[in-house]
Amino acid sequence: MKIIYNGMLTERSQISIDIEDRGYQFGDGVYEVIRVYNGKLFTEDEHLQRLIKSAESIQIKLPYTIVEMKKQLFKLVEENKLTFGIVYLQVTRGVSPRNHLFPQPNTIPVYLAYTRELPIPITDMKKGVTAITVEDIRWLRCDIKSLNLLPNLLAKQKASEYGCFEALQHRSGTITEGSSSNVSIVVNGIIKTHPATNLILNGITRKLILEISKKSGLEMKEEAFTVDELLNADEVFLMGTTTEVMPVIEIDKRTIRNGKPGPVTKQLQSLFKDKIEKRCGV
Ligand code: PLP
Repeated sequence: MKIIYNGMLTERSQISIDIEDRGYQFGDGVYEVIRVYNGKLFTEDEHLQRLIKSAESIQIKLPYTIVEMKKQLFKLVEENKLTFGIVYLQVTRGVSPRNHLFPQPNTIPVYLAYTRELPIPITDMKKGVTAITVEDIRWLRCDIKSLNLLPNLLAKQKASEYGCFEALQHRSGTITEGSSSNVSIVVNGIIKTHPATNLILNGITRKLILEISKKSGLEMKEEAFTVDELLNADEVFLMGTTTEVMPVIEIDKRTIRNGKPGPVTKQLQSLFKDKIEKRCGV
């Protein structure tokens, strides 16, 4: 299994992470997850642009251009013979004696990428999944795809302990997003999702769904909604790189609509699939 480590394609077994890597010690870094369908990267430009933006937000300068990173990723996917899966990318502030202060400016960021097989979650997408609501206890820069995911992990773990797929987070009763996905509701045919502020990650899937909705005449608003609106919505669905467009059929043990994926969600799933087909030929 090959990985990219600081711009080089190398065997995974050849690489170890330093005990004073800032990502390992402080979560001082950012990451991305890109889908691979049919051996082809999906929306890689958008993901790499967001990686650069996230890095810049925490004052890390990536030593590679988008063109260089793409070239490396194509090679990685090819070498690992990945057909359906993900590429995980991570960049940390580098290796330096432990200190809360940023290291010397000449410290080289540690950049790595690897692949993993991951099938499309077809069964869940057809049937729908369940969720719980939890308080959003994260910091106020959720727009940065930072390695600091502890609140997200706690939320997801709680969901799992309740036998659920996702935890939908709220701040004082306003739904922000899932632990690793964005969330939308449909009420009287109108789709709502939290605006792209500092309180959510502006998901690439979310942006694509906004674009698809506009093109196909569906009304989708970037407007926040409450827990109450969520629980009483006609339809609820998640959006994310690994979850795609995922119907939510039960939240906090309350059935959404008739407990089956709704028509708007199904339409968006189909339009999203068309988009994948167009770009990756699946
Ligand atoms: N929100 C959070 C907190 C996430 O972790 C993710 C994806 O991992 C998303 C939203 C969805 O973003 P994207 O569609 O870019 O994968």
